[in-house]
Amino acid sequence: MQAQIHRPTPANLRRLAAALQRGELVAIPTETVYGLAAHALDAKACRAIFHAKRRPANDPLIVHVLDLAHAEELAEFNPAARRLARRFWPGPLTLVLPKKPCVPGLVTSGGPTVAIRAPAHPLARRLLQLAKIPLAAPSANLFGYISPTTAAHVSEGLGSRIPHILDGGACAVGVESTVLDITNPARPRILRPGVVTAAQIQQLLGVKVSGAKSRGSRTRQLAPGMLERHYSPRTPLVLRRPPAKLSAGVAGVLLRQPAIKPAKDVFWLSRRGALTEMARNLYDVLRRADAGRYRQIWMEPLPGDPGGLATAINDRLKRAAARR
Ligand code: AMP
Ligand code: MG
Repeated sequence: MQAQIHRPTPANLRRLAAALQRGELVAIPTETVYGLAAHALDAKACRAIFHAKRRPANDPLIVHVLDLAHAEELAEFNPAARRLARRFWPGPLTLVLPKKPCVPGLVTSGGPTVAIRAPAHPLARRLLQLAKIPLAAPSANLFGYISPTTAAHVSEGLGSRIPHILDGGACAVGVESTVLDITNPARPRILRPGVVTAAQIQQLLGVKVSGAKSRGSRTRQLAPGMLERHYSPRTPLVLRRPPAKLSAGVAGVLLRQPAIKPAKDVFWLSRRGALTEMARNLYDVLRRADAGRYRQIWMEPLPGDPGGLATAINDRLKRAAARR
């Protein structure tokens, strides 16, 4: 059976909300990437997420809710976490907090904390309103592969493994949410960089925020689910500026469109060099390059911006390029 791709009509939204209530899986658009959603309080429905994605059970899920009031039903908030939610929700900031007993252990990979956020995408919000349940939703791709930012991306990877995809067009942000461990409000810790930056969080809370440091062995996990290798095309990715003349079988990915007409096999992330445009196009460009049957993909990392969007993109690129 191939997944049905639904247009976001009111009748379809009602149907998909009912499917979610029954424990079925629905791939949904969010402002970051597409998520594979299921009833977060239904352990059987959540187990189906892990199965469809071939995701290992030790990689916990992010739970999506409408707002802070709903989040407080699932997690133990502290005052700092409430301030963050009031400032950044709905939006691409995920908070890691102690879980309440109603959250199935499967969702948190057996751990005492739950990751939670309120998405900003109007269709994700509409489904949350209609279904009236929290939705566990990791990225809607096969585990380890590039995250999906269009309904077609979801269909390519999971089309034969899930029943429903809601088509909400291309995602506006294009990289996954910032994940912040705020269990100890005196020591917030970024576990995954995203558009919401350490500086913004630091400014709001007035305490130092530590970033995700990549250290230790290749196989060691930094935080649950934060693997050194992730977000990866099948074609080996080399983080090096592509030369003007590419060797045979090599694709080059540039940060911005070149002034003169490039040779074929050249892709670019943005027309004008805007960071937000690069983030939005990143996964689509990597997927297109990956589909071109190249021997290698060469791509130049972004110039650094400590803790900002370029850091988030470089984080994904480093993991995408990590060796198997
Ligand atoms: P995805 O939605 O596919 O981007 O994956 C969700 C990611 O959120 C996981 O891979 C973890 O890195 C992170 N995450 C989810 N739950 C927790 C948690 N309880 N503690 C720390 N990180 C978490
Ligand atoms: Mg993912």
